[in-house]
Amino acid sequence: MQAGHSPGERVGLATHVHSGMESSLQSRDVAGVHDFVLLENYGSEDAFINNLQKRFNTDIIYTYIGPVLVSVNPYKNIPIYTDDVIKTYRNIHYFEAIPHIYAVTNTAYQALKEENKDQCILISGESGAGKTEASKKILQCIAVTTGRTNQVESVKEKLLQSTPLLEAFGNAKTTRNDNSSRFGKYMDIIFNYIGDTIGGSLLNYLLEKSRVVMQAPGERNFHIFYQLLSSSDASLLDSLHLSPNTYYHYLNTSIVSMKDNEIDDIGQFRVVKRAMDVIELSEQEQTAIFTLVASILHLGNVGFSQDENGNASINAPETIATVAKLLACDAAQLTHALEKKTIIARGDSVTTPLNKELAMYARDALAKAIYDRMFTWLVQRLNSSLRPVDDEFNRTKVMGILDIYGFEIFGKNSFEQFCINYCNEKLQQLFIELTLKSEQEEYFREGIEWVPVQYFDNKVICDLIEERHKGIISLLDEECLRPGDTSDMGFLNKMSINLVDHKHFVSYSKAERTMLKQIPRDEFQLVHYAGKVTYSVHGFVDKNNDLLFRNLIEVMASTKNTITKAVFTEKELESKKRPETAASQFKKSLNKLMQILVTKDPSYVRCIKPNNEQTSGIFDEQLVRHQVQYLGLMENLRVRRAGFAYRRTYDVFLKRYKSLCPGTWPNFNGDPKDGVALLTQHLQYNKYEFSMGKTKIFIRYPKTLFMTEDLFQL
Ligand code: ATP
Ligand code: MG
Repeated sequence: MQAGHSPGERVGLATHVHSGMESSLQSRDVAGVHDFVLLENYGSEDAFINNLQKRFNTDIIYTYIGPVLVSVNPYKNIPIYTDDVIKTYRNIHYFEAIPHIYAVTNTAYQALKEENKDQCILISGESGAGKTEASKKILQCIAVTTGRTNQVESVKEKLLQSTPLLEAFGNAKTTRNDNSSRFGKYMDIIFNYIGDTIGGSLLNYLLEKSRVVMQAPGERNFHIFYQLLSSSDASLLDSLHLSPNTYYHYLNTSIVSMKDNEIDDIGQFRVVKRAMDVIELSEQEQTAIFTLVASILHLGNVGFSQDENGNASINAPETIATVAKLLACDAAQLTHALEKKTIIARGDSVTTPLNKELAMYARDALAKAIYDRMFTWLVQRLNSSLRPVDDEFNRTKVMGILDIYGFEIFGKNSFEQFCINYCNEKLQQLFIELTLKSEQEEYFREGIEWVPVQYFDNKVICDLIEERHKGIISLLDEECLRPGDTSDMGFLNKMSINLVDHKHFVSYSKAERTMLKQIPRDEFQLVHYAGKVTYSVHGFVDKNNDLLFRNLIEVMASTKNTITKAVFTEKELESKKRPETAASQFKKSLNKLMQILVTKDPSYVRCIKPNNEQTSGIFDEQLVRHQVQYLGLMENLRVRRAGFAYRRTYDVFLKRYKSLCPGTWPNFNGDPKDGVALLTQHLQYNKYEFSMGKTKIFIRYPKTLFMTEDLFQL
């Protein structure tokens, strides 16, 4: 009999694993229960949080809700991520050892191999909760677990290196996380029929491109800008006309006067260069990327003055000359495109001068567009490098990993939060659908009666946002596309009129009428599944239009830079159709993502952030409580517990408890189901307490299980 689990045994995880027993069942007092379904008082949020805290205090960061893994960021290195630990999790069931991200990964991988089914692991949680770290652990686990041929090794290396590369361009320091992902990422790891890694494929979502031109106090631009400027490669910096001493407007600083010692930009630049080599980006491609990064920095330093007629003119021609030289385009044409705007009206082209404000807007729009399109180019380039050489007659299977922004409620919420929270609504819908579906299917498979569970279906909120003609995105597009002066307030009015009766929508006029708490005139509130969020309407129209004046596109298409040439095309200008709005594009890509996910067997990792200080040892109960609420964990537990708290296959159950019954000890040679029947009889289980399925025993209450466990102590 194994001793109870104490914190001191953490490092010796392997012993737990090899015991082949549900070791943490016995340690419920020291470190809480390892599965929330075993909480006696499962409806109580306090009990839930208390269990999390107990575990957190003993450095046990993972807990299950059935097959869902809940993870609390420890903000310190715990020695549970070694290759040896990965190996010990191989070939065991996830409940046979302390909960771990490797257990989830391994279970998914085994199912992929044995049941030949595509898998996906969906990671969610708020900024800083540990999603990206979790996704790295999954990749690491797969890399250690799969084959060792040269070809497989090379693919794995590329997959692993894709992470630091994308992080350099897509992550930034924010007030919440020093390495915050500012884009959503879905990655498929592709396996051949024997389960070896043969490739990968990535999808990126909604990069926060506004960061390129502006950052909140205490935050930084994307890492790559600082990394490049910190490079010790003087000739590279010279060729890009960059200097650590220069003040860059888009960084609000020069590198030499930067105070951030926490982030190792110099070291990371070497990592990025190495990753580029592993991914096989050619010298020319690497130069093209760095040239664009530099061009953006220079572009940011282009200022404008305004004459008495209100016309803008560039006041730093030498900087424009540098940009033009770097991009290999015509400086006069670039200047013209930044100072004036050309529109095509009924076949005629009309050029009008811009005022200073509009010229600055155009400059920033250009910088954002270059960066955003370069990022997408990079993702596509990674995809071509990760594409399987040989698809083994299409007998491939994939494991997807989704690392996407969690629900956001800030002091001020704007278009970006609206998109992010919409995305979370969609994921929640999928989660509920799939969790309920799989519960139901298991009961059906096992021949056990299913009692329908009441739950909140958030489809009504998804519809509110995305329904054609009536939803918020449609109303926003309608405002953006209508002729005449479009405005944020026009959009808000449209919503207030059309959505007045919707239970999940509140605006000023409705709040006033119904005597609800006042909502400012330029804000609206959505009642999300995770709680109420008030959005400021300012910037919705502009961000949704995502306008880039056509002469800027023309100049970019004329450059000799491999990337700008490829991502800004003449074809784009020829198209008669208006480009799709940002929200519509996002909606489309999300719906595609849902289609991808729904065909796979999902596993869930729900990440929680223990405090806002990014530090170890602090468990801020209030903060955790919020997250438990908006991750929908109580609802999840309720669904899981609606029928039976615990279920195990007969052989596993018998193996664990056979010593408690003379009829099954030391060995029971018949059908394990008969053995379990003998056991339950001997232990005098009440018939309401359990149910016998085709392959599994289902136990309704944890106390039955704990009483059985306690018999070991006698
Ligand atoms: P964002 O949404 O901002 O991208 P995130 O959920 O991806 O946030 P991470 O970047 O994964 O958050 O984690 C933030 C930081 O927390 C990491 O840089 C790391 O320092 C720490 N951290 C996260 N998970 C772990 C872990 N399992 N062990 C140790 N430290 C961790
Ligand atoms: Mg992240």
